[in-house]
Amino acid sequence: MESKVVVSNFINGEFVSTDNYIDSFDPSTGEVWAKIPDSGEKEVNEAVNAAKAAFPKWANTPVLERSKLMLKIADLIEARQSEFAELESRDQGKPVWLSKSVDIPRLMHNFRSFATAVLHHVNRSSVMEPVNAVNYTVNDPVGVAGLVSPWNLPLYLLSFKVAPAIACGNTVVAKPSEMTSVTAWKLCEIFKEAGVPPGVINIVFGVGPRAGEALVKHPDVPLVSFTGGTVTAKRIREVCAPHCKKFSLELGGKNPAVIFDDADFEKCLSTTIRSSFVNQGEICLCTSRIYVQRAMYPKFVEKFVSETKKLTVGNPKNEKTFMGALISKEHLAKVKGYVDIAEKEGATIACGKEELNLEDSIKNGYYMRPTVITDVKDDSRLMKEEIFGPVTCIVPFDTEEEVIRRANDVEYGLAATLWTQDASRLHRVSRCLQVGTVWANCWLVRDLNMPFGGMKNSGMGSEGNFDSMEFFTNQKTICVKL
Ligand code: NAD
Repeated sequence: MESKVVVSNFINGEFVSTDNYIDSFDPSTGEVWAKIPDSGEKEVNEAVNAAKAAFPKWANTPVLERSKLMLKIADLIEARQSEFAELESRDQGKPVWLSKSVDIPRLMHNFRSFATAVLHHVNRSSVMEPVNAVNYTVNDPVGVAGLVSPWNLPLYLLSFKVAPAIACGNTVVAKPSEMTSVTAWKLCEIFKEAGVPPGVINIVFGVGPRAGEALVKHPDVPLVSFTGGTVTAKRIREVCAPHCKKFSLELGGKNPAVIFDDADFEKCLSTTIRSSFVNQGEICLCTSRIYVQRAMYPKFVEKFVSETKKLTVGNPKNEKTFMGALISKEHLAKVKGYVDIAEKEGATIACGKEELNLEDSIKNGYYMRPTVITDVKDDSRLMKEEIFGPVTCIVPFDTEEEVIRRANDVEYGLAATLWTQDASRLHRVSRCLQVGTVWANCWLVRDLNMPFGGMKNSGMGSEGNFDSMEFFTNQKTICVKL
């Protein structure tokens, strides 16, 4: 029998064990493969105290030195990228090739990008002519940043918080998802090897309501960056609001693809299959409602379904696997529950119900086929709620005005894809879609120089807008009368 991985907290530059542990499951086999610290207030207090003590020195460390250290972190990850990809796949269930080609490159890019961006930051200034005064802004680090991240892109999203926070001179206490803690714990080895000063990066593991909440409500944590579900965010807002903390919330989505008759058929077909099902459909930016204009609709549905049926589901270690396992037994049941709702409502399950043929070693893993649903009504829960799995609905539309109204008729506003070759329609419709990002004739092309965030219940704040360093610093205006 394989011995279990035992994860420890990373506090003040040291690996520290705890009294209690919880199980972490390998989604591909359904077996417990690791023990995770069940941290609470005690551990969070220790981490926050370490981060608080390290803050004055780190905040005054020359920016070039901070930048060099972050570049070293990226280089050390690069030397171990295969190991990280395999570990992340085991933690989360995604195919190893996906982690290797997307998550780990992005992990390195996050450190490199923010390490260099911070060197080029220029403050704003304005000269007031009639009164002869000059105004300029300065940016100061905020203090101890509390960073809470989800399981679906474990290292990609954790580093999207840690990197900009430390680049700006903050110290951090991070609480990764209890479901994918092993990858974050391994990353601490890199922080230690790179020579990150003790207390600058601390990682505490445990469940949300205990470890997570102790962190976000801690009086010595003035900044909270949260990525996760909309329901959890409501609680975090309640906890942070009385303390006037700075907080940013990156939340769920119900992302539409809007496909006009004149779209490049092959491109929009293959990209929309990818945007619906890659990472088992467990990306906040995945497509889950596909609106296709009437003339293209029959051909699109036929090809979409036949191509989806060809996608391979199975062992994440296999290079040919397109979709691995979903994160947990409970999540699999929740996602399948939406397919049951569709059936009860009389919608058509165009594909996805076929038996899976899994090898013996993974038969207890959390797998399902990519599922395509048609004949769904706009007011169905399938068209309104975030499913966060490999289930997508395809519906027809007639006019531009109609599809904008229907695409916007949800509580979420994270992202949309738009497919048309008509340039003026592309700009016109993009402006009308109530989402933080519109990808026109593409999907998931992310430029770290641009803001990222959601509208409505998809979140608030834009921590990705690093250009102005707004979120991870306190910005002050100084006005001097000449
Ligand atoms: P979740 O809200 O259940 O958990 C997210 C994190 O919050 C975890 O680390 C969890 O332990 C912690 N947490 C839970 N309760 C807490 C509390 N009371 N106080 C503090 N922390 C608490 O979300 P999840 O299931 O891990 O992730 C999936 C969700 O994340 C989906 O809704 C998805 O759309 C969203 N997401 C959004 C983005 C984005 O950038 N907008 C990116 C990825 C995922």
